[in-house]
Amino acid sequence: MDLVAEWGITRFMLTQWAMNTTRYFLAAGLGWLAIQWVFKRYLNLRRHSPKPQGFKEISREIAHSLKSGIIFLIPTLALVTVGKELAISKIYWDIHQHSYFWFASSFVILFFWHDTWFYWTHRLMHHPKLYKNFHSIHHQSVYPTPWAALSFNVAEAFVESFIFISAIMIFPMHWSIPPLFNMLSILLNIHGHLGHDIFSRETLNKVPFKWFNHPSTHGQHHLKHRGNYSLYLVFWDKVMNTWIGHIKVSSHLASGHETRDRNQNQTDTTLNVDINVRTSPDHHQAQDDHADTKNLRLGTDHAA
Ligand SMILES: [Zn+2]
Ligand SMILES: [Zn+2]
Repeated sequence: MDLVAEWGITRFMLTQWAMNTTRYFLAAGLGWLAIQWVFKRYLNLRRHSPKPQGFKEISREIAHSLKSGIIFLIPTLALVTVGKELAISKIYWDIHQHSYFWFASSFVILFFWHDTWFYWTHRLMHHPKLYKNFHSIHHQSVYPTPWAALSFNVAEAFVESFIFISAIMIFPMHWSIPPLFNMLSILLNIHGHLGHDIFSRETLNKVPFKWFNHPSTHGQHHLKHRGNYSLYLVFWDKVMNTWIGHIKVSSHLASGHETRDRNQNQTDTTLNVDINVRTSPDHHQAQDDHADTKNLRLGTDHAA
């Protein structure tokens, strides 16, 4: 099967772009609807931000994500042109060429490979010399929404787009694995950017939930501008000692049906802390501390 030969490069690339864009809108739209309606109605949903994100923030996230969708086409184009000439791809078309066990294993390996790729490239992009040109756009969303999942600088989108091309150069993969994995990947990415806690902190600290990243994990990264660099698992953050725990959230800002703190005294304490910090004579605290201040005003929960 050679779709490029059959369709021509232009049609093939346009189809890729349409699939990427549709996948983004479906997944982010689903996440957005979930926090606006389904989860809000049926779960104890707790928002991270002091106020809902407005049209301006969301349209910025969508615009940058759409731009990333175009950049993501570059490796595909390279693969079906230069890559084809060099025969670098280990993609196979007949599922019987390898065992079903390998089919499933290659999916799992790709999952770990992407998590590793993302952790190290993401961590590198936080280097002061790279941050502005590579990663600053993603962090414009201090409290991200699902629409921020692909909101990247051009350079970051380019780096992240090489996940598949790097993988298919290393190990054999059935052609259906990348699109299947892409679906899972975008759903988990959207989940990380929900900007709301879905599960209770007790649940997050139990196996297997404690092995994975959650909105509160990645939300903490957006707020602090450091730590929690992983995408799916907490593995690399734990190993490299960059794990910084979950974002603090306040149930009194909950958008779900449970709107009261479990411990009102804790809320009172954090409110007092906030007043103390805001009246402090030191007006030159780091941005990090400023974010903490805002969060202290909101937060009651601590989890590591
Ligand atoms: Zn993010
Ligand atoms: Zn980051």
